[in-house]
Amino acid sequence: MQKHRPVVIIGAGPVGLCLALKLTQQGVAVCVIESLPEAEFLDQPRRAGTIHPSTLEMLDDIGLYKKLEPRGLIAPTMGYWDRQSGEILALFDHAVLKDDTQFPYVLQCERLKIVDEAMQLLKSRTIADIRMDTTFKDYTQDENGITATVANEAGETETINGSHIVSCEGAHSIVRKSLGIEFEGYTYPDRTMILSVVYDFDRLHGYAPRNYLSDPVEWANLFKWPELWRVVLGTNIDDDPEAVMSDASIHERMQRLIPDANGYEVLSRSLYTVHQRVAATFRGGRALLAGDAAHVTTPIGGLGMNSGIHDALNLGEKLGAVIAQGEDDALLDRYSRQRHHVAVNYTKAQTEKNKRLLEEKDPAIRKKNHDQMRKTVEDPQLARDYLLRASLIKSVREAAQIN
Ligand SMILES: Cc1cc2nc3c(=O)[nH]c(=O)nc-3n(C[C@H](O)[C@H](O)[C@H](O)COP(=O)(O)OP(=O)(O)OC[C@H]3O[C@@H](n4cnc5c(N)ncnc54)[C@H](O)[C@@H]3O)c2cc1C
Repeated sequence: MQKHRPVVIIGAGPVGLCLALKLTQQGVAVCVIESLPEAEFLDQPRRAGTIHPSTLEMLDDIGLYKKLEPRGLIAPTMGYWDRQSGEILALFDHAVLKDDTQFPYVLQCERLKIVDEAMQLLKSRTIADIRMDTTFKDYTQDENGITATVANEAGETETINGSHIVSCEGAHSIVRKSLGIEFEGYTYPDRTMILSVVYDFDRLHGYAPRNYLSDPVEWANLFKWPELWRVVLGTNIDDDPEAVMSDASIHERMQRLIPDANGYEVLSRSLYTVHQRVAATFRGGRALLAGDAAHVTTPIGGLGMNSGIHDALNLGEKLGAVIAQGEDDALLDRYSRQRHHVAVNYTKAQTEKNKRLLEEKDPAIRKKNHDQMRKTVEDPQLARDYLLRASLIKSVREAAQIN
């Protein structure tokens, strides 16, 4: 028989599912609420696709790494290019992290595959109650627990009781709004275009599996995924979205990037307004925020999903200790302090720096940045420090020091 009321987790994205796996691993029951119907769960866009070494360690801890590795692409190197001259300024190799992690590489593996494998694993746990096609509406809390109100599969209003509620609903978190927690930050004054392209950027043009191309006019990122490449381009906010997304405009931009008489096969295209925001706190009593519900950032650097999974594992361990071992629930404030610190000082700071570096317009500053990039990659100690930060290993170590 179940000893505790379940932790109610809103959202079966990567963060909600990793949290559910961490809690059930410790014998804590969960109820996961997901608005998507079962039949549409794997029809979602692929979205995020870079899993950093620190996150691979966490996925290994919850039994997911060995399921994801065969579906992903091991990417030890990352290239930094000057798009104007076509010169590669730095090729970082994660091998310099061999004494820091058992995973000295990035795994290129899409969000869709993570939720697929995580959901299959969770379904095998008898203490996981998974409610698909169920939409969270509201909740109340008192000193004994929480009550969530949902619209269930049959379209009826139903209440679900739990010990705590964790909002893993993404940026539009109802829980965050109902707690009145400010989502501090700003919206970028440009849009980001993401294309899925079938092309051999590596074989034909010598690109690494992950590439950042700096350009004062038109920066770009190129990422290799197992079945295709993902091309990320900045676009001007004043440009008409329909024109930007047209075949003609996309093909013209791809030809500007790398001319190819055979053209490009573009499988999907999307245009995003990007936000840089962090919730003022990740806790309101028995309600907690994790992942995009707590912080959103630009996709440059691939830190959004990674830092969300870090929230999930950090919170999962602490909630597990509070519920299963009767530890003081002040531990949950520590979760908020640790992960808020990382969201501001690592995820936000690093992605802001990445974007500034890519789009810098002043030629003198660009030259200084490029010289610094060359110097960093040539010195093994500087290269290691750079990758410790970029791969969030440093953020995990620093957060652990915060009480
Ligand atoms: C185009 C794009 C590219 C990105 N690339 C990267 C990358 O390369 N690397 C990286 O680290 N990050 C990347 N990110 C960010 C990454 O996708 C997110 O940070 C990550 O998916 C957040 O996970 P999450 O579980 O918090 O939320 P989500 O993935 O948004 O999942 C939320 C879940 O909650 C469900 N839900 C929402 N509301 C309700 C409700 N009321 N009731 C029930 N269920 C609900 C949704 O259906 C969904 O399943 C990218 C984001 C975008 C948009």
